Amino acid sequence: MFDNKKYKYAAYYIIGAAILLMIINFLIVDLTTQSIKYNEFLSLISEKKVEEVQISNDRIIVIPKVEEGQKKKILYTVNVNDPKLVEKLTAAGVQFGGVAPNNNPIKNFFFNWVLPIILFTFLGRLIFGRLDKKFGSGVMSFGKNTAKLYAENETGKTFADVAGQEEAKESLAEIVDFLNNPKKYAEIGAKLPKGALLVGPPGTGKTLLAKAVAGEAKVPFFSMSGSEFVEMFVGMGAARVRDLFKQAAEKAPCIIFIDEIDAIGKSREGNLSGNDEREQTLNQLLAEMDGFDSSKPVVILAATNRPEILDKALLRPGRFDRRVIVDRPDLKGREAILRVHLKSVKYSKDLDVEAIAKATPGAVGADLANMVNEAALRAVKNNRKEIIQEDLEDAIEVIIAGKEKKDRIMSDKEKKTVAFHEVGHALVAALLKGTDPVHKITIVPRTMGALGYTLQLPEEDKYLITKEELFNEIAILLGGRAAEEVEFNSISTGASNDIEKATQTARSMVSMYGMSEKFDMMGLESPSNRYLDGRPVQNCSAETAAAIDEETLKIIKEAHKTAIDILKNNRELMRKIAERLLEKETIMGDEFMEMVREVRGE
Ligand code: ADP
Repeated sequence: MFDNKKYKYAAYYIIGAAILLMIINFLIVDLTTQSIKYNEFLSLISEKKVEEVQISNDRIIVIPKVEEGQKKKILYTVNVNDPKLVEKLTAAGVQFGGVAPNNNPIKNFFFNWVLPIILFTFLGRLIFGRLDKKFGSGVMSFGKNTAKLYAENETGKTFADVAGQEEAKESLAEIVDFLNNPKKYAEIGAKLPKGALLVGPPGTGKTLLAKAVAGEAKVPFFSMSGSEFVEMFVGMGAARVRDLFKQAAEKAPCIIFIDEIDAIGKSREGNLSGNDEREQTLNQLLAEMDGFDSSKPVVILAATNRPEILDKALLRPGRFDRRVIVDRPDLKGREAILRVHLKSVKYSKDLDVEAIAKATPGAVGADLANMVNEAALRAVKNNRKEIIQEDLEDAIEVIIAGKEKKDRIMSDKEKKTVAFHEVGHALVAALLKGTDPVHKITIVPRTMGALGYTLQLPEEDKYLITKEELFNEIAILLGGRAAEEVEFNSISTGASNDIEKATQTARSMVSMYGMSEKFDMMGLESPSNRYLDGRPVQNCSAETAAAIDEETLKIIKEAHKTAIDILKNNRELMRKIAERLLEKETIMGDEFMEMVREVRGE
């Protein structure tokens, strides 16, 4: 084997030897020769003490006659271009002649060329080698980084390792099938998505899922993080992308996983100064994705927790046109994740996993994995052979206390408030006519800072919205706060976002859509130049603006009353659903509607 260390020491020795050689060379010249003044030289000639003189352009070397018992010495003096020198030398009978300037071409070549080149090469290596180490990779390896292999041949992960992400696994199962049987798809002419975007907060298992896809399909897994692409030099990122795809093409079928894609895929819009490096990298990525031979089964998975900032070009068909949501797990999901991680440790038979899951709303897979490990450490510390309930309970505190406040786990009281708030939205939506069906209600905290949400999905695309629908929309938005009022007779700050949206809708009804009696069809606002500040421009007097406010308030008050009435009339139903939500954290649309119908005797 090539020993890198020895090689490095050899370099030091060679440099040392070369320097020594040069010093010796100078010393020898200096010790054996002696400088004299020109007049001393002239007096030596007149005293006939000179045997021989060699004249070169800049100096005169003088070899004096050796008297007995004396050592031979060489003297030299500066050539002052004395025109009478030759005369004087002839008169004194001294042998003389010129000296060819390059008296030893090999020696000159060695000292003037070979030695400096060797020296600089080694010094350069030394310095850049250090830099390379410091910056991880790169300065000297520009264009050479092809050597880096991004692949993992066997991830060893399967879908069984990923718990609580059933929906995500379902959408990825198709990709696994495609990688397993590309022929089946090719025969029929079906094109599978080239890329899928895994969207969700950190630690929810996006990387794990990507690895599991590779593991299930038994294909190599290439991975790189978006931030790794953005390098010191412009052009490096693009080179790395090219590299990555080249390696992947050689190993197809395979998976390419790009973590933190937002680091390169940030939207270019509204960014005048731009970042050349990132843009080049992004363009290269797009070009590679488009240029990829579609018969080669390579699937690109990318992860982000901020899909909204991604460049639109990335999301076009044929690129990352599929989205797989990898959300924070709900109660059942957390329990499943805990069980997956408990498999690799020893634990007591009476462990109540569900209780632990219940105590950790908002925790993600990575937190739960950490907790199990923390519990195992605590068990060892207390000289136990297995994890007991207390270890896990203690671990919750360690993990949760170490996290930022925004990820803080909700107290029971907060949870209850959020549950009623969400049920308020959902019930108003269900009991008003002509609204979109409720798809999901959840009190699992989300990334955007919302503590829960109610998702309504329209049954069909709508291009025109009626006045009634807009009014209902406002009532649904205000339903959250209304539920808090009806149930607790006290209100919280949780409705701020709802209020903002409701006000906007109500204001547009009055000033843009001609939906208020007072102003009839008078246009009072127009969407402004969006390149300025994006706000609508009011085309009216200050008095009219005040009147718009009044009209807006009227609509809001009416919608608020509608929501309160609905919830007051269905108080029992609201409580029942809220209780169920508190227990399960997530209720799907079907279950919700069933409860609504049951109570109403439909
Ligand atoms: P992300 O890529 O979303 O930030 P990771 O996939 O890196 O999250 O998750 C980190 C670790 O947390 C995983 O290696 C795994 O041990 C654990 N983990 C996260 N989510 C899950 C899950 N759904 N099931 C099992 N383990 C999980």
